[in-house]
Amino acid sequence: MPTEEEIRKALEVVIDPELRRSIVELDMVRSVAAHDNGVVDVTVSLTTAGCPIKGHFQTAVSDAVKSLDGVTHVNVGFDVLSDDQKGELQRKLGRTSLPEGALAQVKNVICIASGKGGVGKSTLTVNLAAALAAEGKLVGALDADVWGYSIPRMLGLGAQKPKVSAERKILPLVAHDIKVMSIGFFVEEDAPVVWRGPMLHKALTQFLEDVQWGELDYLIVDLPPGTGDVSMTLAQLLPQAQFVIITTPQQTAQKVAKRSAGMAEKFKLEVVGVVENMAGFTTPGGERFQIFGEGGGQLLADELDIPLLGKIPLTMPLREQADSGTPLVVTNPDDPAAQAIRQVARGLIAMAPVELPVLQSPAPAAAPKPVGMSLPMA
Ligand code: ADP
Repeated sequence: MPTEEEIRKALEVVIDPELRRSIVELDMVRSVAAHDNGVVDVTVSLTTAGCPIKGHFQTAVSDAVKSLDGVTHVNVGFDVLSDDQKGELQRKLGRTSLPEGALAQVKNVICIASGKGGVGKSTLTVNLAAALAAEGKLVGALDADVWGYSIPRMLGLGAQKPKVSAERKILPLVAHDIKVMSIGFFVEEDAPVVWRGPMLHKALTQFLEDVQWGELDYLIVDLPPGTGDVSMTLAQLLPQAQFVIITTPQQTAQKVAKRSAGMAEKFKLEVVGVVENMAGFTTPGGERFQIFGEGGGQLLADELDIPLLGKIPLTMPLREQADSGTPLVVTNPDDPAAQAIRQVARGLIAMAPVELPVLQSPAPAAAPKPVGMSLPMA
């Protein structure tokens, strides 16, 4: 069996995504115990009990230790740094406060992904968000489809601009009980978003770190189609995110959608389900047409060995309501498409782990942090 020192050495590759340093260097590895039967117990100390990136540490610690010869199983446990230890960590990092985790109060992050555009990703994002809100959940929607943003329009937030709080945080706009942030709030309508590389990275980081999301049960993120820069940046910023892949029923579309799943896997993000959109159209006379074919969603779900969370039919009202700025699940929850989306929302709720309340010491007051200059503010 490897020694404690060797195990600690192996853990140097585990990086805290918020503090951007190794958990070993940050003194966050509380204890290590190697047993003769190949089992290793590791306890990691987190900055807050509600740390949303627990899942990331769980996988990263387990993978790092399993890479050592003789290790067959790794138990990863967690505790919380004491106030003294937090103070020590702050001194070490030369900061006046620890990031509480911009998303420390966000319980679930769900990225809505697709292999290509036009499959209904944004429509589903807003309607899923509204359906979760209707189930009594606290919901936010982040429009990360930076080049094809459409969430502001779909939620009727055309001309409004977010304000900045006294603590220098960007306040999300609110529509239909959903807190919303979009690059569309910061650029002139119809102006192309030409940001790439570092600028894009900075804007997305700000959307997560400088937006006052507050307490949320769900943050739904509308990703751009495909597997480009934005998805990768977000994957790094949101190691706790779960992916839902949207596809049309066409068997060829399913192949394209699979690439998104491949990307999520590469970043060790969890793909929790598939939603098939544009699944058939029923005429007022009751005749059913499979306009975009059938079976693609199930095929993809089977291939990825994850559930098909729903099949959303084509309905005119879904498109009309998206165009007029109110989610269909709000105006007409009984429309077949709205019903199917509400079903998906309930599936997501059923999947989320039931969390017991954790007792935690009050977080230290965060020093106001200046909002950088990459986003033109109202
Ligand atoms: P994406 O975000 O994947 O590019 P959108 O959500 O913008 O796709 O959808 C593309 C178009 O298709 C929009 O006009 C939207 O209203 C419409 N649409 C999406 N899903 C449906 C559906 N199930 N029934 C009718 N229209 C739909």
